[in-house]
Amino acid sequence: MATPTDSTRQGGSRRARRALLAAAATALYCWAAAAAVAGPHSTRLAYAPGEIVPIPAAIPHEEGDMVDRRIVPNLRWIARRFPIYVTDGYSGKLPDGEHVGCRGCHVRRSDHYNGLAVDIVPLRWSGKCDRHWRGITRLARWAERRQNRPLPPFRWVGYNGDSGHGCGHHLHLSWEHAPARKFQLAEWVEVFPVRRQSVAPHPRPGRNGSGDKAPRRPRGGVSQTQTGGVSPRGD
Ligand SMILES: [Zn+2]
Repeated sequence: MATPTDSTRQGGSRRARRALLAAAATALYCWAAAAAVAGPHSTRLAYAPGEIVPIPAAIPHEEGDMVDRRIVPNLRWIARRFPIYVTDGYSGKLPDGEHVGCRGCHVRRSDHYNGLAVDIVPLRWSGKCDRHWRGITRLARWAERRQNRPLPPFRWVGYNGDSGHGCGHHLHLSWEHAPARKFQLAEWVEVFPVRRQSVAPHPRPGRNGSGDKAPRRPRGGVSQTQTGGVSPRGD
């Protein structure tokens, strides 16, 4: 028969085992977070009907920017882990004829014309490649470890080494999708399931979680005038 002392010992040993298990789980999480630098673990094709919608407030962005709603969960996930500010998404006409996004900023056959691309600068923007861009560089490497080899679901990643893109300019991300004509919604979009990813969240700067009091950023999208080679796809 167990004495109170034995029960206390058994309880202590259970607590120790639990602590060991928790430590092991933490170690596993850290390993998974480190492994996540290689991009999303898995992807799927989203066949749900597309729609051009305003970017939610949880994703810092220039007023009026819109995207295909099927990439919103991925953008929300990215915004929680990287200090992003979206300067342009969908570029084109809405069903009512109104034009949204930056006009004349993107190359022919750009994924911006389908609402499946975003241009990104740091939440704390600066016009030169400084420490504020570290999080964006980290995101670019996460999405494309080797130049011109974007990891699924990304179709094209424009950053260092791509004309009109890079640290101090902007990062372009677009999602793989079914062929679609200009200003048309794609039949499917490749996305990553947001619950399985494990990059650690970044600390939110600023008192209200929205960054600097008056961040200075380029307005009306980032100018993407090509000054040399034209991006091969989807700028
Ligand atoms: Zn772009």
